[in-house]
Amino acid sequence: MTEPTKTLCPYCGVGCGLEVLPPAQPGKAVNRDSQGNPLWQVRGDRSHPSSKGKICVKGGTVAESLDKDRLKYPMLRDSLDDPFRQVSWDEAFNKIVTRIREVKATQGVEAICMYGSGQFQTEDYYLAQKLLKGCLGTNNFDANSRLCMSSAVAGYIQSFGSDGPPCCYDDLEETDCAFLIGTNTAECHPIVFNRLRIHHKKNRKVKMIVVDPRRTKTAEAADLHLPIKPGTDIDLLNGIAYLLMRWSNLDTLFIDECTQGFSEYAQIIQHYPPELVARRCGIRIDRLEEAARYWAESERVLSMWSMGVNQSSEGTAKVRTIINLHLMTGNIGKPGAGPFSLTGQPNAMGGREAGGLAHILPGYRLVKNSQHRAQVERLWKLPEGSISSHPGKDAWSMITGLETGEVGLLWVAATNPAVSMPDLVRTKKALLKSPFTIYQDAYFPTETAAYAHVLLPAAQWGEKTGTMTNSERVVTLCPQFRQRPGVAKADWEIFAEVGRRLGYEKEFDFANSAEVYREFVKLTKNRPCDMSGLSYQKLAKTPLQWPYPDNEIIDTSKKGDRDNGLFSSLFSDKKDSNSSGEPKRLYTKGEFNTADKRAKFAAFHSKGLAEPLDAAYPLVLTIGRLYEHWHTMTRTGRIEKINKMQPQPFIEIHPNDAEKSGIEAEATVEVRSRRGCGRFVAKITKAIAPGTVFVPMHWGALWADAAEANSMTHPEACPISLQPELKACAVNIAPVKNETEAFAEQPQPIRALLEVKESVSV
Ligand code: SF4
Repeated sequence: MTEPTKTLCPYCGVGCGLEVLPPAQPGKAVNRDSQGNPLWQVRGDRSHPSSKGKICVKGGTVAESLDKDRLKYPMLRDSLDDPFRQVSWDEAFNKIVTRIREVKATQGVEAICMYGSGQFQTEDYYLAQKLLKGCLGTNNFDANSRLCMSSAVAGYIQSFGSDGPPCCYDDLEETDCAFLIGTNTAECHPIVFNRLRIHHKKNRKVKMIVVDPRRTKTAEAADLHLPIKPGTDIDLLNGIAYLLMRWSNLDTLFIDECTQGFSEYAQIIQHYPPELVARRCGIRIDRLEEAARYWAESERVLSMWSMGVNQSSEGTAKVRTIINLHLMTGNIGKPGAGPFSLTGQPNAMGGREAGGLAHILPGYRLVKNSQHRAQVERLWKLPEGSISSHPGKDAWSMITGLETGEVGLLWVAATNPAVSMPDLVRTKKALLKSPFTIYQDAYFPTETAAYAHVLLPAAQWGEKTGTMTNSERVVTLCPQFRQRPGVAKADWEIFAEVGRRLGYEKEFDFANSAEVYREFVKLTKNRPCDMSGLSYQKLAKTPLQWPYPDNEIIDTSKKGDRDNGLFSSLFSDKKDSNSSGEPKRLYTKGEFNTADKRAKFAAFHSKGLAEPLDAAYPLVLTIGRLYEHWHTMTRTGRIEKINKMQPQPFIEIHPNDAEKSGIEAEATVEVRSRRGCGRFVAKITKAIAPGTVFVPMHWGALWADAAEANSMTHPEACPISLQPELKACAVNIAPVKNETEAFAEQPQPIRALLEVKESVSV
């Protein structure tokens, strides 16, 4: 039998190891899909340290999309009304380079923007930074991680002095209390949840608290479900802190030795007595007290969160308020404890390490920091001052930049903003105005292709070699194992070729992705995300967790002992070290990456939702993911098994709200916000709190008629992280009386693409 290729699942940030085998195996019948096409075989990799052989339905079926609807050749058109024509790479590159030069000359370099993706491998991310931020001199690179993780990034930076989730997956099995807030982990990060669930079931003393307005599968497994009103997370967190203070359940030694800002924080907390908090959150006082008691009685509390916290107009404040609870109870830097953000995408973490947001640089550096810029310029051998000191345009600013004409060239790669951005009606109008859009993707059609002037065929997972980092900082090498379709190229190869044609031959003189990686890891040396000791050679043997500095120190007995000895009983042995001898968890010495080495408390009052309810829009719409589908369905929409499991979009409505609106189960419901509308099949369920409705975020115009969740959402964002509040907006609902009646019509390019889809889709 052929040896399987070990790689990483290209979906969520859990980062499960996969083993992949070709369709044909010696002495065996060729593996085929239901249409008889040869199919790569995928199974869990038991040797992967993060997942130990476990995978979910998405990982198990990923190979089914590899040969469907692939974009194989570069395509060009002069206007969105024209059809695409196939061109050579040479013609496509010439067009792009000419256009970059023209825009630079006429509008300036700040009119050039790139919008990338957590689907990139780290090498792709890294060269995009070098091209945009280094060679072109604009920080206008942002990624879809802005919609997903940027509040967590900002919270970590502000509280700890740098980005980086402090925990690891072993904590799932070592915690006394799991506090899950704003995360439907059972569906969105199923393999992480399975580990926690097994630990929870085995140990009756281990508690699980779930905070979510929906009774999700995650909430069903909890000891305590707190269905708080949307937008009251900070009230709840401050309310728990109030009780911990009242009961004197504080780690005063940790607060004194390792933190700053506690007294200001304590002042704010005084304003959150249980009566007030319970009323605001819409929960019983005894439930609030129970949650606080679990915190008080547990030696090791592990908080986990994802989009329900991050996608908020006070996202950074929420993250910091979670971290406050850990700082006041000393629940950090030890097994089973800590604040742990779960990343949405397979390589959102690698993107952060490579500097893949508009305000950061490779190696967890900041564009505003002159020393950081100088360090990167030196390694890139670029003149001093090449990197701009201004953060570039974030994702939404690129859309508003198209509206005002400020953006002259938009380059979108491996993401689908024509489904995933907020306020989709407005987003699509802005995309229609773009003078020149390059769209680089593995699949065709996708909704965003409708707005492109140039299509570039990207090699995807399995068709290029690169690295990805998962939520617990484990880096996995993902080797190429199959031929690329047509003339597709790796994203990093496309960026390098454009760089060379712009005159940066030396800067982009890479023979392969291993060379790109070698250069990238140098930029992490002595940084919090130090992975300067990693190489393709080492990663070919096994996935490795950072920190992984390029030194030879392997004496684990000397690692991790906190200077003052406070934690030495909790952190002392080899099992708590990674392969380089570094602690598996960050901050085990109680020292943080701030100037004075202390973590910072932050005092925030709750502000609530950005869009208030009123008589015309009396319900909160919250959107989210399902277990089966992935993001905008570019892959999962093409997988038969997944479509059978989740064939259509729907809306969850509480029976009280359904009755008030005259809506019956399975009826078609029209949902309207101030910006747009959609139609969904009604699921009437007590799993959703009264006053709130839920719609999955996956279905774009190509996969369902008028069921785009983001048609309703708004772009109001956290002022610090600039992450939009996709999780909540004000809507009304009504039954659809006449289903044949004309509804919101898609723009012309999407209509044209729907015809293309008819001819090519599965
Ligand atoms: Fe892939 Fe995430 Fe499922 Fe693991 S849990 S198999 S990483 S989608």
